[in-house]
Amino acid sequence: MSDTKTLHPETLAIRAGREHSGFGEHSQSLFLTSSFTFDTAADAAALFLGEREGYTYSRFTNPTVSAFQQRLAALEGGERAIATASGMAAIQAVMMSQLKSGDHIVSSQSLFGSTLNLFAGTLSKFGIETTFVDPKDSGAWRAALRPETKLLFLETPSNPLTEVADIAAVAAIAHEHGAILVVDNCFCSPALQRPLELGADLVVHSATKYLDGHGRVLGGAVVGSDALVEPVYLHVRTAGPSLSPFNAWVLLSGLETLYLRMEKQCANALQVARWLESRPEVERVFYPGLESHPQHALAQRQQSAGGAVLSFVVRGGREAAWRVVDRVEVISRTANLGDVKSTITHPASTTHARVSAEARERAGIGEGLLRLAVGLEHPDDLQLDLERGLGL
Ligand SMILES: *Cc1c(COP(=O)(O)O)cnc(C)c1O
Repeated sequence: MSDTKTLHPETLAIRAGREHSGFGEHSQSLFLTSSFTFDTAADAAALFLGEREGYTYSRFTNPTVSAFQQRLAALEGGERAIATASGMAAIQAVMMSQLKSGDHIVSSQSLFGSTLNLFAGTLSKFGIETTFVDPKDSGAWRAALRPETKLLFLETPSNPLTEVADIAAVAAIAHEHGAILVVDNCFCSPALQRPLELGADLVVHSATKYLDGHGRVLGGAVVGSDALVEPVYLHVRTAGPSLSPFNAWVLLSGLETLYLRMEKQCANALQVARWLESRPEVERVFYPGLESHPQHALAQRQQSAGGAVLSFVVRGGREAAWRVVDRVEVISRTANLGDVKSTITHPASTTHARVSAEARERAGIGEGLLRLAVGLEHPDDLQLDLERGLGL
């Protein structure tokens, strides 16, 4: 596929990135092999020296993984992608390959919990410090810069409050300073948002979420220019947080329906969000697709739809929120998201339970807050389920 620039993303999600066995198979083969054989000793030497392209060992080269990488790179509009074993492995691979001891990160404070722990815990042990800022405040990003700041990091919309950060504005701040911007595009996927086009230098993914879309496998990826992805590739090659071919094969089929799923899941989320907003039992709804969202205009500019994750505050605190979680019969009680099955979670007692009550309060994660990741069920059924939860 040479003309990826002229094809629509819906087509690329199905057609980009193919590695054939030579038998003319129509679906992507699963190359479940740890290593590859060489024709001759000289052939082996050429492959290892990189003089000839080909497959050697699945820690860093496998045709099924390569097909997934090519497809995702096409969807994000990047030159190259490297797949990893999970989303966290992707973020870690970026940090290990782009930074060294003494470097400084400026990051959004509204991050996936394990990313916060990676920055504040693991990286700080190796002499890489992180300053956390309010992602909506351009002044705060700029004020946190130091001479040794090499990398800015954000996630948008954030979890669970769906705060939207201005990717183009933060990219400009990073570039003025000679730093790079890395965006975790997990919540939107390339179907809704393409951070590289907005100025980001690298995109990271938890493929575990919408790219798979069915809650089956873990996976991750880093996408960007050849120059920035090459060191990430070398890190994965050396350290081995590699994606398994089986998971890549599952993810390839997930990608085929990404655009269709996202379009419908976003429409379902908007319907449910509007309905929740109309209920007196609900104090507030956070969803970028609603006019009431404080950054609705920015979200409309930056994303092609509001996303499939929303959160809402029920009146009556933890007791009322837990009642909703306990009463739903269709929606799954689980902390995962990005699935065709809708899921509900009470962040204060699950994903954010280990954060102190004051820190939670500061982050706006109160006892009445619920996060709903809307799936592909009929939205009327989800609404009825929530009615049951709210005791209507
Ligand atoms: C889940 C998630 C991750 C981590 O991905 P894993 O595949 O679970 O390692 C990173 N960022 C965001 C926004 C996530 O939701």
